[in-house]
Amino acid sequence: MTDTIKVTKVAESKISDVDFSKLSFGTVFTDHMFVCEYENGAWKKPEIVPYGPISMDPSAKVFHYGQAVFEGMKAYKDDNGKIFMFRPEENFNRINKSSERLAMPAFEKDYFFDGLNTLLNLESDWIKPGNDNSLYLRPFVIATENGVSASPSSKYKFIIICAPAQAYYSGEVKVLFADQYSRSADGGVGFAKAAGNYAAQFYPTELAKKRGYQQVVWTDANTHEYLEEAGTMNVFFRVGDKLLTAPTSDRILDGITRKSLIELAKSEGIDVEVRPVKVSEIVEAAENGTLKEMFGAGTAAVISPICGFTHKDKEFDLPKLEDAYGARLKQHLTSLQANRAEDPFGWRYEVPSMTV
Ligand SMILES: *Cc1c(COP(=O)(O)O)cnc(C)c1O
Repeated sequence: MTDTIKVTKVAESKISDVDFSKLSFGTVFTDHMFVCEYENGAWKKPEIVPYGPISMDPSAKVFHYGQAVFEGMKAYKDDNGKIFMFRPEENFNRINKSSERLAMPAFEKDYFFDGLNTLLNLESDWIKPGNDNSLYLRPFVIATENGVSASPSSKYKFIIICAPAQAYYSGEVKVLFADQYSRSADGGVGFAKAAGNYAAQFYPTELAKKRGYQQVVWTDANTHEYLEEAGTMNVFFRVGDKLLTAPTSDRILDGITRKSLIELAKSEGIDVEVRPVKVSEIVEAAENGTLKEMFGAGTAAVISPICGFTHKDKEFDLPKLEDAYGARLKQHLTSLQANRAEDPFGWRYEVPSMTV
């Protein structure tokens, strides 16, 4: 047990009330949460406490100005009971990048890793083995200083909550290519996991849902000619046998699944091109039959196959493939994450076992 963190355990676990075969993503949370407060220019000693409501003043800045960022990551268990995370250092670096853009303080690396390691040892029973099972981890930071003046907060809370997750079946996903609304702009916050980015997408996504599409694939705000990414996922296109995805920028989130898939695909001998992807070339490829696959990539769903898309009222269906890259890469990546496949990249992080 680490002495950097004060641990208060629940009197009784609620795990026996949970049906692990019927989990709806991100709705059931474990027994504990990690909390660390920032005040007077420094992060204070972190604590792990029973999961539960937090009390805040109604004038706290997060409620008024949306000064909030988050991360999404997962822990996995192998058949020997060892717990792993996937490239957690990337999440650590990214939350600090997001925080910096929102004028929030960087978090301490030791606290991040000690917090996760302790929390995961404590919640070990909530992590079920098997490629499709995981524990979804949601670190987030909120501005807690009281007062409605529009300026950065001097107080923050860094919290990590955990939700058991099963395979995420998104069903048949049809998408709309954006040609009116935008998700992000040059010089904006699109690259950050800033809470407000998601709120801003709800309305246009609801409009798309009413028309029968589950997701919007966002295009560049200036011209709507280039395909960028979906609401919480990066997007890949397979044209012929080549895999295409847009380069990251200040408008596009630098997804860890995206960058891992690029390397994994290359290691499997797949031709990958990271370059701006034009709406017109994807429409043309769909028309001439060379567009074979489209899929979203992100931590929650890993890979979410897209079965069709619409651009300016023209609808296209994608073929059903026997040996889809998406299915193959998902199998490979989830096996690697759960310690069932070799990890030549050094991406797996083994959580040290400790008595908490
Ligand atoms: C989180 C997120 C992704 C996926 O990132 P991962 O690190 O792969 O989970 C992609 N796009 C947006 C907008 C996101 O918020």
